[in-house]
Formats: sequence, structure tokens, C-alpha cells
Amino acid sequence: MRIFCASIATETNTFSPLRTDFSDFKESFYAPPGQHPVTPTLCSAVFTEARVRAAKEGWDLIEGTATWAEPGGLVNRETYEQLRDEVLGQLRAAMPVDAVILGLHGAMVAQGYLDCEGDLVSRVRDIVGPDVIIGTSYDPHSHLTEQRIANADIIVAFKEFPHTDFVDAGRSVVDLVLRTLRGEIKPTKAVFDCHMIEVLPTSREPMRSFIDRAKAMEGAGDVLSVSFIHGFMAGDVPDLGAKVIVTTNNNPAKASELAQKLGQELFGFRGTTRPSFVTPDVALDQALASDARPIVLTDVWDNPGGGVPGDSTILLRAVMARGLGDFAVGTIWDPMAVRICISAGEGATLPLRFGGKTGAHAGAPIDAEVRVKKIRRDSWQYFGDSIVPLGDCAVIELPGGGEVILNSNRSQSFDPSLFSNMGIDPTAKKYLFIKSTNHFYDAFAKIAGEIIYVDVHGPYPSDPKTNGYHHLTRPIWPIVDDPFAAIAS
Ligand SMILES: [Zn+2]
Repeated sequence: MRIFCASIATETNTFSPLRTDFSDFKESFYAPPGQHPVTPTLCSAVFTEARVRAAKEGWDLIEGTATWAEPGGLVNRETYEQLRDEVLGQLRAAMPVDAVILGLHGAMVAQGYLDCEGDLVSRVRDIVGPDVIIGTSYDPHSHLTEQRIANADIIVAFKEFPHTDFVDAGRSVVDLVLRTLRGEIKPTKAVFDCHMIEVLPTSREPMRSFIDRAKAMEGAGDVLSVSFIHGFMAGDVPDLGAKVIVTTNNNPAKASELAQKLGQELFGFRGTTRPSFVTPDVALDQALASDARPIVLTDVWDNPGGGVPGDSTILLRAVMARGLGDFAVGTIWDPMAVRICISAGEGATLPLRFGGKTGAHAGAPIDAEVRVKKIRRDSWQYFGDSIVPLGDCAVIELPGGGEVILNSNRSQSFDPSLFSNMGIDPTAKKYLFIKSTNHFYDAFAKIAGEIIYVDVHGPYPSDPKTNGYHHLTRPIWPIVDDPFAAIAS
């Protein structure tokens, strides 16, 4: 038995001032065949899980390229076509195969390609023909298109947000593909379009119990797999929005009945799933009045994980205006400022302009007399079991005593190790300012006395009603109050 696997993944914010090319993939993660590390990355757990099964069961795993770029702006056409053709060439060379397993993100948009993953999966189908099994894993912050549904036998998305279960999703795809190949199951899937876009953290109710119930359904009766696509509101594409995929064992009626039931339930949660997001002023009032420590304040919309640059200065400026000193910021993306700090050296004092350089919606740069407290080449942080590179970093101390980590590789704040790796004890600070919508939650909750979600206006396109979509034409909530009535009429 021969199975080919590959992974091409990124998340494209089509509103971002950034653009994505091969250097971004190379900077984040690029592993040619045979060079995938022993630890999984977010979208490549199918590699590590397939290796385990291949070694145990004695079949041939043919590894293609695995690559990931930190979420950013529109992908350069040549870059997408080069990566796609690289993987398709590897697949052709590997033929004949019994199955193809792809670790995808699902929100990649390139110049000329609104649905990169649909394009990739359909080209894979063209090469392997109708009888070879194709399994795909997705991040829930993706777009589920007809082209992807029609060309893959197995579709599984991570269930948790934060995505603590990305390895489970990889394992599930590999397992379902193997069981299909052995004739133990005949997957039949159905999709329900919820016609909504919402932030759906599973670390709180009502999503917590909903996901627990969905997990309990898997393996019971004919239900093989239940997945939820949350959607990604910063991607202007026709299929933007939440969808439910249910896969059953040779029972299409059950799949479509359950997808519809769960989809209607999910639609019923709209407007109730977010933690309370407060303005910077309210957040700082709340933090100043609290005895807890450390207090973690997360800028939910300057989250590089959503494709924005991550160099917003809006919240830091508000913090400095309040005269706070006992805080650390992790991080502000500014490779140019890092380079200047490295040239100045640890211990140097200099006037530095940092942050706010890449777009019109992230505040102006900050000018301050700073002290370079720490330099580290190739710093990193954990995200679960995986290692996330931060590139060359500098810790600068502001005149009031606050400390800011400047990084060279864009990344959201996943884990307190981002501070400790830069010589800052996160538990010793009164306030920690980070940039993440919800992925930070598991790791930071372990050390936080209190967590405050700060709703800074910009730079992420966080209001679907005013985002100005061109390609999204389906009625979806909250743009339309009752999308199902709109469809019926
Ligand atoms: Zn995601």
C-alpha cells in the first residue's frame, strides 16, 4: 500500500496591507520531501501521524513538501503555482498510489485564485483518478467550497479554538483514509451552510458543550466524523462563513440530517459566543482596579494570526498615556527596529522609532528614548508541542520602565515562553499585553490572574457589516438579519 502526503498552508487576509511570497513560506516553515521534522506543525500533523501508522503497519508513506506561511496578505500567483506544481510533480512521480492525504489550512487566496485549496485538491483528483482515496485536514478558520467537497473523500477540521486538537485532526484523517482503503468503511459526507460568520471560541459556552457533544457522536452508530468550519471574515471569497460537515459510514441520509441539525443549532448561537471584548479605556480601567497579577490584556484584532502585520501601537500608546510601568508587551513586529537594536547592542540607550509602519489602521510609530535590554537571535515560543519561530528579537525598555519585545518574524502570542525566552519573567509583571484572539488562552490561562480581551478598532476587518466584501454575495448573518429567509424569498 502506498500513500502520498503533502501540506501547503496559509491563511490569507485579503484586506491586509501585507503580501505573501515564497520568502514568507521559507521564513515560517518549509520542509522538502523527507525533511519534515519529528514534531507536527499546525497543518502538517498528517505527516507525523501517517509516519506512526506506516511504521507500525508496514505500508509505504511517500512524503511530499510541507510548508506553511504565517497568515498574511494575498499570496503571489507565482508562489502559489510554484508550490502547487512542486507537490503535483511529487505526486506524479509517486504514482501509483492508493491514497493522498493533504494537510491544508483552507483560507489561502492567491492572485487569480479565490480557492487555492479547491484548485489543489481538484488537480490532485485529476492526477489520481476517481478511485484513489483523498483525505484532507483543515483549520476551521477556512472556507469550504464545492470544489473541495466534490474532490475529497474525507474532510476533517480541528474542533477546538484554540486549536489544541490539531494532532487529533491529523490522526483522524489518516485513520479514516486507512479504514476506507481496507474496506472497513464507506465514507458518505454532507455539508450544511450556516450562513453566518462569527467568532466561535470553544474555551467557553455555548461552544464548549456543543463541541463535547459533537465529539461524543463520533464513532457512535454510523457517524464517523463531525467537523465545523467557523469561517474567516478577513477573506473576501464567495464561500466565506460557517459550515458543518458530517461524514457517516455509507449513510448519506444520516449525514445530511445530522449536518442540518447541528448547523441550525450553531446558527442559533450567533451573537452569544464571544467573550466580552472591551475598549482600551475600559480595559485599562478594569486592569488598574484589579488586584490580580499578572493581568493578561490581549489585543484581539492586532493578531498576526489573522493576517494583519502585528505592529499596532494603539494599545501601547494608551498604556503609556496612563503612565504604567510594570508591564511587558509581546510583541510588536518591527524587523527594522530590531536590526537597529542589534547594531546598538545590549545595554545601549538610543532614540528609537518602532511599530505602526505597515498600514493606515494600526496607529502611528512610537518615538522613544529606549534601552536595549536583551537581544536574541532566532527566538521562539511554544504553541502546544510545536515551536513557533519569532526571528531575531530585541527587548527594549521604555522610559517609564515598561518592556516591549520587538520581533522579526510575524507571529501571534501563543505562549508565555515568548516572554521567558527573552529574559522576561511573565509572572513577575503586573500587566502582560499580547496579540491574539483566542489561541493564547490555554497557555496564558495557566499563569494569568485575570484575562481581558481588548477590542481595539483596527487593523483587522472585524465587522462583517462594514468590511466591503466584493466576492461574498451569499446572504450571511450579521450582514443579513435572517439569511435563511433571504434565500427562501
Ligand atoms: Zn484557525
